[in-house]
Amino acid sequence: MLVPVDAARCGIVVSLAYATALNLSGRPIYRNPLCLLHREAAARLERAAELAGAIGLRFKIFDAYRPPEAQWRLWEACPDPDFVADPRRGSPHSRGVAVDLTLIDRSGEELPMGTGFDATVEQSHHGRTDLPADAQRNRLTLLGIMTAAGWDHYSKEWWHYQLFDARRYPLIADGALAPPLM
Ligand SMILES: [Zn+2]
Repeated sequence: MLVPVDAARCGIVVSLAYATALNLSGRPIYRNPLCLLHREAAARLERAAELAGAIGLRFKIFDAYRPPEAQWRLWEACPDPDFVADPRRGSPHSRGVAVDLTLIDRSGEELPMGTGFDATVEQSHHGRTDLPADAQRNRLTLLGIMTAAGWDHYSKEWWHYQLFDARRYPLIADGALAPPLM
């Protein structure tokens, strides 16, 4: 079941790249720019935001739940399985249990991470020692926060985190939203 991320309460900035042309397809993919996650993922994101807040940092989210239809559009633009999940297998984003994010400081400035979000290059992989030390440190800070909050990382994208055993969560068709809480 999907729930909206309570961005205001967690101090999270939502900047969904696929609702704009600023993504690897070069055009908007989402009709409805909603930041949604599976309930379990939303709870772990809140925990991670709490840990980040304790050291004066916040999150900027580039993507969360991604409708399976959007996954097809993305795959057509970039059919590289290192960076885009084959829609026939299904992305953890389409299960509502993955999030793409970075760290921002108090003024909302993104911390340097060495590459941009969605950069389909080897420098986007974790464990690169050929990046400026501050970018390495920032990536490790994000990795530590997310790991401590119960997230699994993806070795080829510093910005992507997902729940462990993501494939045990079902793919969720567009529109499968949780009823509003009363
Ligand atoms: Zn992702």
